[in-house]
Amino acid sequence: MLLTFLGGVGTVTGSKTLVEPESPGGAPNGHRILVDCGLFQGPSEVRSRNWDAFPIDPATIDAIVLTHAHLDHCGYLPALVRDGFAGSVYCSPNTAALVPIILRDSARLQEEDTAWARRKGFSRHRDPRALYDSEDAERAIALLQPIEFGRDFSPVPDLTVRLDIGGHILGSSVVTIHETSRDRTTVFSGDLGRGNHPLLEPPAPPCGADAIILESTYGDRGHDDVDAEMDEMAMVITRTLKRGGTVVIPAFAVDRTEVLLSALRRLQDQQRIPVAPIHVDSPMALAALRVYLDAIRDQDAEISTAVLAEGSDVIDLPNLHEATTPTDSMALDRGGARIIISASGMGTGGRVTHHLKALLPDRDNCILLVGFQAVGTPGRMLLDGAHEIKIHGQYVPVRAEIVEIEAFSVHADADELVRWLTSCQPLPSQVFINHGEPESAQSLAERIRRELDIAVDVPEMGERVRV
Ligand SMILES: [Zn+2]
Repeated sequence: MLLTFLGGVGTVTGSKTLVEPESPGGAPNGHRILVDCGLFQGPSEVRSRNWDAFPIDPATIDAIVLTHAHLDHCGYLPALVRDGFAGSVYCSPNTAALVPIILRDSARLQEEDTAWARRKGFSRHRDPRALYDSEDAERAIALLQPIEFGRDFSPVPDLTVRLDIGGHILGSSVVTIHETSRDRTTVFSGDLGRGNHPLLEPPAPPCGADAIILESTYGDRGHDDVDAEMDEMAMVITRTLKRGGTVVIPAFAVDRTEVLLSALRRLQDQQRIPVAPIHVDSPMALAALRVYLDAIRDQDAEISTAVLAEGSDVIDLPNLHEATTPTDSMALDRGGARIIISASGMGTGGRVTHHLKALLPDRDNCILLVGFQAVGTPGRMLLDGAHEIKIHGQYVPVRAEIVEIEAFSVHADADELVRWLTSCQPLPSQVFINHGEPESAQSLAERIRRELDIAVDVPEMGERVRV
């Protein structure tokens, strides 16, 4: 079959790979599926690609298979549906539960940004419009088709597809595509988990793959020692709460919040931090939390056996408070010994910006940065030691303690990626590296060539290959 890389190459966002099966004679059989349909995110030159005309007519795509619910893997769906795609969107049941939360939030943000640009007149377009709106998002959501893990299905002739546990976030899947006409198997890693996610089972091995499409977010790096990082987190939280300060943790709403809650639970149970109110302040995070709690209560196969034994208490802490309304959220700005987990993860928007504005000027407070902070974001400026940052047009002095904890990555690092790849025996004859910054993708490719002696390609945008 033929693969065309339409996103997630040279960047970690915008994942989209077109798959065209061949008939027994070797000619394309005329059907097309897309693996992932992600939004480009980050700097404006990357984001602007969301506005380019889609390289093929979306109406000619028969079906989409999603690896998981992160915006960079599903966030372009409403645009594709608006432009004519009308097939099924296959994904795991938990992905089907999380995607609506993500797409509705994405549409709302775009509508708000457009309204803001229109009011302020700062867009370079005379009549700024949203990439897509809530109506487009609802039409995309209506196409979701949940498929259980481990079950073969055939979205188009000559292909059978299977989803297995990906271990990256709830619902994330490793996607195996078997081309029946040529008896060839291709495996997409999707975003690959680390095998030590506090709530999820490790990723399934890529069994029987002739070709593997492997992500490379951390393809040139190893992760720090988790235990040391947890020690630091315990110390920081303890000293902040003891001096009566608030710990603000900007966090991505889906998965990061759950991973943090399980870490806080563990530290609390081991009496390494005092018990203080923990506020989850993001409507999207609270909606996602419910999906995780349901999965634990339903004894879902992706939830790790240790967590199933403990039950939903692992993330449903007795001192957990839900800030549902804006009034609940604003009440947290008065400070005091508490922990606030709020989106967005890089402080670029959402309720956390209000908390930063209110709490940064007081040296009793602490901002705990737990995720990747892109250049130009408030999170990155804090990390780089800014003395003041601009929030909502106002300069806010930075007096709070700023601490970074890297223990919460849910992406496999270079060693883990190679280990997963080599769990496929015999080794695949072809490997394609995607979903990474160029240095990261190249470094992983070189390492695999050197250590495993297999053909590795780092495809470019629009490149078409045969597997
Ligand atoms: Zn992801």
